[in-house]
This record gives sequence, structure tokens and C-alpha cells, in this order.
Amino acid sequence: MKKDTLLTQIGRNPAKTEGTVNTPVYRTSTVVFPNLEEFETRDHNDYKIMRYGIYGTPTTFALESAVATMEGGYAAVALPSGLAAITAALSALLKHGDHLLMTDSTYGPTRNFCETQLRANGIAVDYYDPCIGSQIASLIRPNTKVVYCEAPGSLTFEMQDIPAIAAVAHSHGIPVLADNTWGTPYFFQSLAHGVDISIHAATKYIAGHSDVMMGMIVTNERYWLPIRKAVADFGFCVSPDDCYLALRGFRTIGVRMKQQMANALCVAQWLEHHPKVLRVLYPALASDPGHAIWQRDFEGAASLFGVILQPYSRAQVTTLVNALALFGIGSSWGGYESLITAPNPETIRTAKPWQPGGPILRLHIGLEDPSDLIADLEQALSTL
Ligand SMILES: *Cc1c(COP(=O)(O)O)cnc(C)c1O
Repeated sequence: MKKDTLLTQIGRNPAKTEGTVNTPVYRTSTVVFPNLEEFETRDHNDYKIMRYGIYGTPTTFALESAVATMEGGYAAVALPSGLAAITAALSALLKHGDHLLMTDSTYGPTRNFCETQLRANGIAVDYYDPCIGSQIASLIRPNTKVVYCEAPGSLTFEMQDIPAIAAVAHSHGIPVLADNTWGTPYFFQSLAHGVDISIHAATKYIAGHSDVMMGMIVTNERYWLPIRKAVADFGFCVSPDDCYLALRGFRTIGVRMKQQMANALCVAQWLEHHPKVLRVLYPALASDPGHAIWQRDFEGAASLFGVILQPYSRAQVTTLVNALALFGIGSSWGGYESLITAPNPETIRTAKPWQPGGPILRLHIGLEDPSDLIADLEQALSTL
């Protein structure tokens, strides 16, 4: 089956749910067993059976299996947020004395977790140039236990050669974790490209409507049990109502993302030729340095990209952003609506300084008509 057909089939089984098209919301804490023997012999390594509410219900399992299937993983587990998925996955694989290789372009709160909790627990962290490719071999130490990727990078949008990085990591027996929130299970088959453990902020395109906080970890068979057990150790679980909403959103990820990519390309191409713009950071554009890798590995692009303006002042950037009518100002992305922020990645980086030559805007393009978005951007840029 092709991906779009699969999206209509996965995560539901009407024969098992009284004929309902969708898997209903199953709410429970306790699961009762027919007798004491069955209760006492339940399989503690089977996370796809009904045992207790914290391990999920058929609603949770429906979402998890749908996401895992779409990405080509062995199994998936839902967590209360994207950040919880990241911290649980890292905590599952790292202990005192270990070493982590983290991309310098990682999501800010991931970096914060490394600098606070991981360092406090005696885990060494080195940040590497996101464009390092197979040169990552020179950074691997005897105690390196995780190589972490994120492509494209948060805020700065560098593509990473994940297959090249994974080949080196695997030759040392090291697993590759990747934050695949931008790629999504729909546009980047991360496991087929060398990722062992793929992490999503399901808050973004998977749920897709700016109304759910959720994370998802998709793994290959080898890392499933250690990851799933760690999530259980931490006591993370997700409400079945949220799982229902996320799966409802996930059904339409194909149409949403294809349309949002088309809209984003339209706006990005217009911006890249605007005289007040230095450069657009979007791997889907032929002008982007990461375009060849994106084209080789990805089947599409998220509608999130960066824009480097000519060297205007912070006050001018603030005026521009405040002049926009159709772009919400706020965190997150992946919903149906357009958003904008004006971050400062140059203050975060350590491995490879970030000096793009002007201030950056981060745009998330929604399902609006792109001509309306362009008109809005044009009037806001005219304030400069
Ligand atoms: C938003 C985001 C996260 C965190 O997701 P939350 O659900 O907001 O915790 C992780 N990674 C990336 C790349 C993100 O953009």
C-alpha cells in the first residue's frame, strides 16, 4: 500500500470495536483479569496488551501502531510532550560516565536538558557541527553511547547526512537518535536511513491542530524494550482523549503536509527574491546548501523555514513582526495556521558559530491561501 492508502487503514480495527470506524476512547486505570492466575502471570514485557492504564489502552495502542507503521519502525510509545520523549530516550541510553554527541543545531530545550540534567548526572556532552557527516568519526570516544541528530536543525535549518553519520555510529555499536519532528513519519522514513530511535513532537504535524501536547518515540526492534521499559520506569503515560485527537489529526497528515509544503514553497520562493531578504533557509529550495541531501533522503518538506533579513536592527524586526496580521506570534508549529518568531540562534551555538549576516525570522506556513500570506508579508516588510 502507498502511504496515503495506509493512512486510512492503520490504527483501527472495526471488527474489534463493535463496527466503529475509529478506535474509540477507552478510559481506564484498572484492568481486571478473569482470575488470579492470569493476573499474576501477565507478561511484563508486552506493552501492547491491556495490563494497567499507565501502559496504555487500545486508544493509545491505535495511535502508537499507526505512527510506527507510517515511519517504518518496529513499535512506538506516546509520551506527554515532545520534550518528554527526548529526555526519556536520552535517559534510557545514558548513564554516569557516558558520552553523548549532540548536534549543535538541536532544539533549545534539548540542549538545556543536556546542560542541566545530563551534566549533573555525570554524562559528558559534546556538540558537533551539524554538517559534519562521516567526519563524526573523529569525535567518537570509547565511552560514546549516543549520537543524536536533528535534520534540518532547529532555527538554523542545516540538513544532516544522517546515513553517513549512522554508518560511523553503527560501526562503533552506537545507536543513532534523531528528532524527526520536521521530517515527520510521513515525509522522512528515518529508520530506513540509519536512525535507530526516532523522536517526534507529536504536538506539531502529527496532531496537527495546535490543541494537543504529545511526544512519540519510534524505535527499531533492537531498542524497543529498553526504551519502552524506561518510559514505564519514569511513569509517563498519555490520556486516551489526547491519543484519540492525535490519531484523528494524523489521518490527514498527508493532505495537510502536501498542501502546507506547496504553500511554504510559494512563500519561500517569493521571499528569496525580495530585496530586503538575504537568504531563505529551507532545504526544499534549490538554493539551499542542504537541498541535495534533502532531495536524496526526504519525500517532502515541512512548512517551517528560516528567513535571513538584510542587517536590520532588532527594533526594526520587532516592528515588522508586529505589523503582520495573518501570522500568530508564538511557540510551536505544525498546526493549520501560520506562525512567526524572531529567534537568536547566534547566542546558543558552541561548536560552529552562527553568523548569517542579518536577523532571522522563523516562519511556519499554514493552510491559508499563500497569496494572502505574501500580501501580509509584503506590507510588513514595507515597514523596514
Ligand atoms: C516543539 C519541538 C519539540 C518539543 O515538543 P513539545 O511537545 O513542545 O515538548 C521537540 N523538538 C522539536 C524540533 C520541536 O520543534
